[in-house]
This record gives sequence, C-alpha cells and structure tokens, in this order.
Amino acid sequence: MADSTELHKRRTAAVARGVGSVVPSYVDRASGATITDVDGRQWLDFAAGIAVTNVGHAAPRVVAAVREQVERFTHTCFMVAPYESYVTVCEELNALTPGRFEKRSILLNSGAEAVENAVKIARHATGRPAVVVFEHAYHGRTNLTMALTAKNMPYKHRFGPFAGEVYRVPMSYPLRDGGLSGPDAAARAIELVEKQVGAENVAALLIEPIQGEGGFVVPAGGFLPALREWATAAGVVFVADEIQTGFCRTGDWFACEHEGVQPDLVTTAKGIAGGLPLAAVTGRAELMDAVHVGGLGGTYGGNPVACAAALASIEIMREQDLAAAARRIWATMWPRLHAVAAGDARVAEVRGRGAMLAVELVRPGTLTPDPAAAAAVSAACHAAGLLTLTCGTYGNVLRFLPPLVISDGELSRALDILDAAFATTSTT
Ligand SMILES: *Cc1c(COP(=O)(O)O)cnc(C)c1O
Repeated sequence: MADSTELHKRRTAAVARGVGSVVPSYVDRASGATITDVDGRQWLDFAAGIAVTNVGHAAPRVVAAVREQVERFTHTCFMVAPYESYVTVCEELNALTPGRFEKRSILLNSGAEAVENAVKIARHATGRPAVVVFEHAYHGRTNLTMALTAKNMPYKHRFGPFAGEVYRVPMSYPLRDGGLSGPDAAARAIELVEKQVGAENVAALLIEPIQGEGGFVVPAGGFLPALREWATAAGVVFVADEIQTGFCRTGDWFACEHEGVQPDLVTTAKGIAGGLPLAAVTGRAELMDAVHVGGLGGTYGGNPVACAAALASIEIMREQDLAAAARRIWATMWPRLHAVAAGDARVAEVRGRGAMLAVELVRPGTLTPDPAAAAAVSAACHAAGLLTLTCGTYGNVLRFLPPLVISDGELSRALDILDAAFATTSTT
C-alpha cells in the first residue's frame, strides 16, 4: 500500500486544492476511538469525523446492518419504489426528537440539504420569506446555507452572491457579551428582528442549541426558552439545527432537551448513521405536511444502506445508553480541562456539554483571540497521535468530540497527550 507521503503527492495532483485536511496522514482502517493510518501509526480520535461516528468507528452492528442491506438492494429511490427502513427511521426520529406532538420526517443526504429543506418547509407553511440566524452560526456550504452561515473565511469568501431574506442577530456568547443573561440576550435579538425585519415577515428562526463550527458557544441559560416563547407568539417556526449536537453527543439525545425546549422543526445529520451519509428534517405534522405531494425529495435521500446504518446506530445508542456515556466523558474531561485552564493563562474558558467540549484560547489577561495558540496546541496533539480539531469565528477554540464509546483508558491517554501539548506550547 502507498504511504502517506506518496498519497499526499498523488492527492495534490488529483484533488482540488479547495478541499483541505486537518492531518496529512491517510487512513487505512478505524475501530472504536482509534484510527490507523497507512503508515501503521495509531491515532486516538477526538474528532469522530466531526461528531459523526458517535457509536465508534466501524461499529460491528452498523457494519453487519450495512453488509446485509447491500446484499438485498442498494437503491430504488424512495420517490420511485419505497421501502420499510426509510419509514422506520422516520418513526424513530419522530419519537426521539424533543416535543410530545404529532410529527413527520423527511430523509436527505447532508446537513446542508436538511437545513435547506427546513427553510423550504417553514416558508411554504407560513407563506413568509425571512429567516433569522445568529452570529457565529454554521449551517452548511450550499448557496442558501452559506447565506445562513456567519463566517466569511473559508466558507463564503468570493462564493457570493448569496440567497436573500436572511437576517443575522447577536448570539448569547457569555464569554464575549459581558455576561448578558439569557433572557436579556434574547430580548436584544428579538428587538432587532421586530424593528428591522418585522415578526410577521419571519418564516423561521434557525439556531444551533450549542454552536458547532462557530466555537462550541453555549448560550446563557434562558436564551433558547425565551426565543422559543417569542417564536410561538409571533407565529415563527423555531428550527433547531441539531446536526452537530444530536444523537447523544451532549449527554441527552438532543441538546434542546437540556432546557426543555421543543422546536417546531429539528435538522439532524452527522451522528445519525454511524458514518453513512444521511440527514433529516423532523417536526410538527401540520408544518411538514403543508407541502404538496412531490414538493420535497431527492434521488438519494434516505438511501437504504444509510437507513440500515441509522437503525443500527440508534439501537446502539439506546441499548448502550450513549447519552449516559457522554455524561461520563464530561465527568472525566471537565475537571481535567479546568486543571489545564488553571495552569495556563491562555485558556479563557472551558465550555460545552457532554462529549462536546472546548477551550477558548486568548492572549493572557485579555479577550483577544489567539488562533496561533490553538493551532500550536493542536499541532502538538497531532504530533503525539491525538486527533483534535479547532473551530470558532476567530479560529481560537480547541474542540473535543470523542466517539461516545471511547474507553476510560483511551480517554485518559488522550487527556495526558492534551496536558503535555498545553505544557510544551505554553509561553508563560
Ligand atoms: C456540519 C453542520 C452542517 C452541515 O452539514 P453537512 O452534512 O456538512 O452539509 C449544518 N449545521 C451544523 C450545525 C453542522 O455542524
């Protein structure tokens, strides 16, 4: 087999430069929380393919379900000749997502496609055009979802013009908004919408309950419930983008549950199918069913192999109680990360929920973002075999997304590497 150096040479000649990679090592195989590259090197995985392989890499039950499905049939297109597993995945999503009301679901290929469909459904059902989104938001890379995403570089730069009728309002970001309370931060956002857009023009308010790419920003308590309350009163569809937070990642099935918020629509993807491409919109039956027959769909949406993987993944999450596993990961990591913070003046904040945790790095004694420090710590982790990611509008947040099946031993080794990475890159 070619080694990583050789593959990287071929890649440079064959793959468009616009697709980046975090590490220059090429994967041979992966299992649980460990990735083995073609050079025989083992990586502890704190990325999970960006919160995708929550059930672990190559989870045996997922592999078996996929293998069995591939032998039966790989594709008929649900819009041409339907099959049971699509229906079952929708039943599961209707039952698992927050909200005790009648629901319907549609299956799609990617997170961005799910977000686009949620906007289509909200606009169709309300007859209104505007969509309200937040600072630091990330919702995807298609034309509409670029418009919904906040950060210019690298996601939007020179890719415009963007879709219209998208309005951005301030997020609750406790570290950076002077400790504004959740309800006060919501009031600030709502006032902007009412004065500059007009509630009666708003189809949907779209929010990540904990922001992903934008920096693992956890809004102050009461922010989401206040927005939910306003949306209900204003006839605005409340859409929770749980694409990164969903499927046990934050210590519950969905992050909205921590504050008892019931969205009208929920978008899911990433953790849904153990690595196979699948996404969904789930929500109130009267909204979802407002769209005429044939108005929603796509060739591959709800592919039977991806559905088989989703059903196996959901079974694993339920039977192994991966929400509790995420809370156990939190219980180990939270004190360790706070110990790092106590000894390193670059750490402004440790935040997150469950197994979705992050540290934000700044110039000591200020709130000035320090992306170079985040890059240095990350590089030290990579050199020692721990796969970490950065994120944030300022690129200064280190984020940790281990597979939820990571063992205590692996977790403790990963945290030792992280400790050392902070120590060796510290300038103080
Ligand atoms: C990743 C992500 C998306 C986009 O999903 P893709 O599958 O990459 O299109 C949308 N919203 C959030 C919150 C995400 O984390």
